[in-house]
Amino acid sequence: MELLVATHNEHKKEEIQEMLPEYKVTSLTDYGIFDEIIEDGNSFHENAAIKARFCFRKTGKASIGDDSGLVIPALDGRPGIYSARYAGDHDFKANIAKVLAEMENIDDRRAYFVTVMCLSDEKGEQYFEGKVYGNITREVRGENGFGYDPIFIPDSYEISFAEMSPDDKNKISHRRNALDKFLNR
Ligand code: IMP
Repeated sequence: MELLVATHNEHKKEEIQEMLPEYKVTSLTDYGIFDEIIEDGNSFHENAAIKARFCFRKTGKASIGDDSGLVIPALDGRPGIYSARYAGDHDFKANIAKVLAEMENIDDRRAYFVTVMCLSDEKGEQYFEGKVYGNITREVRGENGFGYDPIFIPDSYEISFAEMSPDDKNKISHRRNALDKFLNR
């Protein structure tokens, strides 16, 4: 069974392939499709669907689109769907600095990462949502991972995502959670 993932990120493809060994996971790169997909949805669900539908329409293969981000209730949900470009496009350092500055005088540090996966195939669309809850640190901690990992400590841990091994993070991550729901659908 083939599953096309709406990405050019080989790392993301490999991560999904490892979690779904019974599927043959392919990417847009494998199909030589390099169109820009405009993610102009107003929610994680809409953005995931835009990517999944695009791939299914182009190839006729069952396709997965995903959209993730960090949600901080005390910041009215920001950075949310703007996580990748909160301060600067994929400038992780600037994005982290902006969040820490905005939270300087805020004691409620609860936050969660969320991933929404949309499966688009001949049967229509299905959504799978994974979350991991935790708290925002007051300073940058750790070198591993990417994005907001250095400022996120998951519940029942004392270390940030960036202080964990990638394997340990992947066992409890929002993406893992969403993929588990996909597997158990
Ligand atoms: P994407 O939808 O998977 O591309 O994620 C969008 C943005 O959310 C990323 O550029 C990161 O800023 C943030 N993000 C998503 N997942 C993670 C994670 O596991 N750790 C840290 N940041 C993340």
